[in-house]
Amino acid sequence: MEYDIAFIGGGLANSLAAYRLKQIRPDVKFLIIEKNRTLGGDHTWSFHDTDVSPASHDWLHPFVVAKWAQQEVHFPAFRRTLDVGYNVIKSHRLHEIAGDVLEENVLLGKTVEHLARNQIILSDGTQINAHSVLDGRGWKPNSELVLAYQKFVGLEVELKNPHQQNKPVIMDATVPQIDGYRFIYILPWDERRLLIEDTYYSPNSSLDQDQISDRITQYAEDNGWEIETIVDIEKGVLPIILGGDIQSIWRTNTNDIGLSGLAAVNFNFTTGYSLPDAVRFAESISSIENFEAKHLHEFTRDYSMDLWKRGQFNQLLNRLLFKAALTPEERVNIFQRFYRLSENLICRFYAGISTHYDKIRILSGKPPVSLLRAIRCIPSQSAYD
Ligand SMILES: Cc1cc2nc3c(=O)[nH]c(=O)nc-3n(C[C@H](O)[C@H](O)[C@H](O)COP(=O)(O)OP(=O)(O)OC[C@H]3O[C@@H](n4cnc5c(N)ncnc54)[C@H](O)[C@@H]3O)c2cc1C
Repeated sequence: MEYDIAFIGGGLANSLAAYRLKQIRPDVKFLIIEKNRTLGGDHTWSFHDTDVSPASHDWLHPFVVAKWAQQEVHFPAFRRTLDVGYNVIKSHRLHEIAGDVLEENVLLGKTVEHLARNQIILSDGTQINAHSVLDGRGWKPNSELVLAYQKFVGLEVELKNPHQQNKPVIMDATVPQIDGYRFIYILPWDERRLLIEDTYYSPNSSLDQDQISDRITQYAEDNGWEIETIVDIEKGVLPIILGGDIQSIWRTNTNDIGLSGLAAVNFNFTTGYSLPDAVRFAESISSIENFEAKHLHEFTRDYSMDLWKRGQFNQLLNRLLFKAALTPEERVNIFQRFYRLSENLICRFYAGISTHYDKIRILSGKPPVSLLRAIRCIPSQSAYD
């Protein structure tokens, strides 16, 4: 075998895993194959300080292009500043840093056509052999999962004048409610440059980029921000999990191929964000001793099943948002109520480590939706309900 492990796809999950593997286990022979000319695609990934462990921050910090000490949320009833650091990683930095360290371990501009237990065939016919294969080619539609979506269009804009917004606004839900739960997300890059993202928690995945861009322009205008240029446009449709059968992914994967990132459904089921989990996965893969195909397959399957089990509470909350909250006011109230809770609880929720007490706190008190409708949402949903 030429390699111990072949990483298929050089997106977020596989790039971080390969980077960390190289740092901790230089003895492991691996190759990362990416169809594009750069690693990581073209994304802006954000995360809270508390989403990853202090030890992970140590190796992750070269990737961070911007950092703020605080963040804000805006709701009809209140505004709140959270004393929680907020970080941003951009794809170009991921490519620069990981590309430098990985060097000869990276094959860019090569599309994988066929995967088997120990063999990869590229579209140009090249055959590569490896003890194990880790497929991180991103999200694959799956009819056995019950989904809703977090979808957004973001405009990076240069303003004519300074905007006076000195910290990220991770949720401004004071905007008119359209298409599910709507909020604006803002990152202030510098005194005149902003990323303004119009975001929707919606049961459907359709995204009208022109219409949403117009709404962003209107929002800027309402805030007294005059746009000089639109520097960049970013859009995304992220899956939100309401229920279903995770086993289906592994049942159909009979070839002992490991899965990572979105391909393994490794993300926060409420936000659709996968960076914190990609970091944890990178930590854990470096501790594997045996890179035989069967072992890697079982390791990644157990990892993803465990995440699924821990994400049951998020799935319940998602069902409350999409099935029990029927009016825009009810949906805004769910988030408004959540953001009145303690800072530590909010951080644990985003990090995916809510305690039993946190869960009781999130669900207790005057319910923002009808109790009867909420109770109907408790049973886990299969794709056939
Ligand atoms: C616009 C956008 C913004 C996001 N922002 C955030 C955020 O702020 N925070 C957060 O935590 N999450 C965010 N996410 C969600 C999630 O973190 C990303 O989708 C993340 O990139 C998923 O990582 P991944 O490695 O699973 O898949 P991807 O990053 O999609 O990687 C898959 C890789 O496989 C490659 N590939 C596919 N097919 C082949 C093939 N046949 N041969 C070779 N290579 C192939 C692709 O080119 C790609 O590079 C965002 C998503 C989007 C779309």
